[in-house]
Amino acid sequence: MRARKKISNLLLKNYLISSLIMFFIFLVFFFGTIAMWVTLYFPINMMMSSEDSKLVAENIISKDYKNINIEEILKVNGWIEILDKDLKVVYTKGKAEVKRSQYSRDELNKMLIKMSAQDMFTQEKFIYSIAYDEDKDFYLLVYLPNDKYFNSGIKKAPVFISVRLFFITAILLYIIIFTIIMIIYAKLTSRNLTKPLKELMNGVKSISKGDYSARINVRSKNEFGNLGYAFNLMVEKIEEERKLKEKSEENRRRLIMDISHDLKNPLVSIRGYSNLLVNNHNLDEEERIKYLNIIEKNSIRINDLITDLFELSKFESIDFELSLKKENICEFLRELIAIYIPSMEEKNIEYNFVIPEKAIYANFDYYSLDRAIGNLISNSIRYNPSHTKLNIEVEEFENIVKIVVQDNGIGIPKDLSEDIFNPFVRVDTSRNSRSGGTGLGLTITKTIVEKHGGRVYLESDIHKGCKFTIVLNK
Ligand code: ADP
Repeated sequence: MRARKKISNLLLKNYLISSLIMFFIFLVFFFGTIAMWVTLYFPINMMMSSEDSKLVAENIISKDYKNINIEEILKVNGWIEILDKDLKVVYTKGKAEVKRSQYSRDELNKMLIKMSAQDMFTQEKFIYSIAYDEDKDFYLLVYLPNDKYFNSGIKKAPVFISVRLFFITAILLYIIIFTIIMIIYAKLTSRNLTKPLKELMNGVKSISKGDYSARINVRSKNEFGNLGYAFNLMVEKIEEERKLKEKSEENRRRLIMDISHDLKNPLVSIRGYSNLLVNNHNLDEEERIKYLNIIEKNSIRINDLITDLFELSKFESIDFELSLKKENICEFLRELIAIYIPSMEEKNIEYNFVIPEKAIYANFDYYSLDRAIGNLISNSIRYNPSHTKLNIEVEEFENIVKIVVQDNGIGIPKDLSEDIFNPFVRVDTSRNSRSGGTGLGLTITKTIVEKHGGRVYLESDIHKGCKFTIVLNK
């Protein structure tokens, strides 16, 4: 499943929206600031009366500094100073609160800078303004006492609303509002990322606690959705493998139990009869032979079981390799069947073989396949009554060969048709363990066929006979 909505698209959308918000706030503030400037600053300066304007150096400077009109300045107890080009105080008019005779260049520069920052909130004792006459090369300094000025009852201050203060306040306000809006926006949009992450985390926690039934439900259609989907797949796989492992563990336990059980019965019997023979000297010949026969039969049984177990573990081993050769499978089957014909005739089995004359070549391990198909034929002979019909057929297809071993005997119940291939599974346990089967034959057949990359299956039902089909790749 591919992410239809990528996280990058989501982020891009968020960035675009946040840029738009930023731009919008900026516009509001930009025009807001200008509007405030126009509505607040200008009217205040414009409203400055003509008398007030005569308090500012710029407005009253004239080339003849001795005749500058400082009437209004005197009214508010202010004074003026004239500085020549060397910044020496050459003329003072009004009652100067601070007597100065000389300014330094540095000092004047600082005053010029400070002048633009003076406003109605200034804490300085004096409000001053400076103007410069280029022709005559002199400076006019106007000093107005701050407190006294305000307390003097004159209606209005020549308010220097500081441009700097005004803009700093506007920018600060912009930053604060912008930050708040961005924090809210980030909180809202980050949920798209944090929510699926939280769900994933919860899933991982459940798994780490051993709860493999946990699945996560990430609804996002982006990479998180993919991750959630992959996570669920992974958990399913782990759960499946865990179940398989449990099952194989269970099978292993059952196998050991079955082996011990199947070994124990004949061993108990051997022990009992040999004990009887050793301790009982009064037995007649007939009895002795009878007991010795039982001992022999049981030791053969143990031997068969151990041989089959050994064979099975050999075929199941990952180190076991088939020695595959391209051979004519029809010829192979004819040779194999020939070995069983005497037993079939002995039991009056009505056999029929449909094996083409022409050669069908396939890659197979002669010895192993002999064992696999031999098991099916010998089972048909062993478990069925005389006059049972046994049919062996070979069919060739484009890439596969089908070998069918079918009888019309007692059959195997339908519900066992898969389980019968597991070790020690028998239709009638008591009957079969006595009739000589180890219960491993079909397991060995299945293991060999699967090693060849083929498969074997059974179609059967009770009293309807068995039809084993082996499918091999050519
Ligand atoms: P066993 O060594 O007991 O023969 P198998 O795995 O070869 O073990 O067979 C398992 C069981 O399947 C047998 O015990 C028998 O009950 C049943 N069975 C196998 N083949 C046939 C058959 N052709 N007809 C009837 N029953 C069969």
